[in-house]
Amino acid sequence: MTDTAAIMAVLAEVPDPEIPAVSVLDLGIVRGIEGGKVIITPTYSGCPATQFIEEGIRAALDAAGYRDIGIETRLAPAWTTDWISDAGKEKLRAYGIAPPDLAKTATCPQCGSTDTEEVSRFGSTPCKSQWRCTDCLEPFDRFKCP
Ligand SMILES: [Zn+2]
Repeated sequence: MTDTAAIMAVLAEVPDPEIPAVSVLDLGIVRGIEGGKVIITPTYSGCPATQFIEEGIRAALDAAGYRDIGIETRLAPAWTTDWISDAGKEKLRAYGIAPPDLAKTATCPQCGSTDTEEVSRFGSTPCKSQWRCTDCLEPFDRFKCP
């Protein structure tokens, strides 16, 4: 018997290596538990953090005594920003990162303005792009949409 709820509680404590304010559960990276394996889908293929996500989950499982639980990475279907939980989006906003959406313009996490522009395809990490608000002039990071 796999104690799914207990394992999910362990995973809820595993921070995303890029944004420690949100967990791998918040981001929707963890798809569930099937056949004694944690199924994960990386947020952004080619993201260097992917390896750290798996290592973080492995370490948390081991520490909680779930050494026999495996990790399986699934690339299809691809991760989408829809998988980020509402709580996760709220945490991202509080952290000053624009929650990703499919709209072309990002919403400024400081003042809520949509009068924003992309400054660089690469933000503080390769998985985020750098934006600037033309209203309050604050720079901010935004998740790249896959
Ligand atoms: Zn602003």
